[in-house]
Amino acid sequence: MTKIGYRFTRPRRLIFEVLEQHIKPVSTQDIFQFLKKRNKYIDLTSIYRTLDLMKKATIVNEIEFGDGKKRYELVKGKNHHHHLVCKNCGDVEDIEIREEKLMKALKIETDFKIEKHTLEFFGLCDKCK
Ligand SMILES: [Zn+2]
Ligand SMILES: [Zn+2]
Repeated sequence: MTKIGYRFTRPRRLIFEVLEQHIKPVSTQDIFQFLKKRNKYIDLTSIYRTLDLMKKATIVNEIEFGDGKKRYELVKGKNHHHHLVCKNCGDVEDIEIREEKLMKALKIETDFKIEKHTLEFFGLCDKCK
C-alpha cells in the first residue's frame, strides 16, 4: 500500500490477509471467526475500527445486503461490479453489468452529482432455485 498516512499495523495486516483469501464479501463476524480458528485473536471492536479506517482509505468496500450485517471486500483487483445475493443460502456472486444508459438517464433526470453507487440483486441462486 502506498497510501499516505496508512500504516499496516497488526490488525490491519491480518484483516487485509483475510480479505485477500476471500473472493466473497465477509462480515466482521466472519473475519473474527476466521482469525480465531487460526489462533489469531483480534477483538471485534478492533475489527470494526480497522475496517472503518480501511473503508475511509478506500481499501475496502462496505456492502449491505439488507440483513443488518455489513460485509467487506477488497477494492484492489476488482472492477466496478454489483452483487447477486441468494436469499436462501446467502451466497454472493459478483456481476458486471452495462449501466451507461442508466447513468445517462440519471444525469438527465436529476441534478444530483453521483459519486458512487451500489446495486444488489436478491433472489435465489442456481442451487436454491
Ligand atoms: Zn454500477
Ligand atoms: Zn442459494
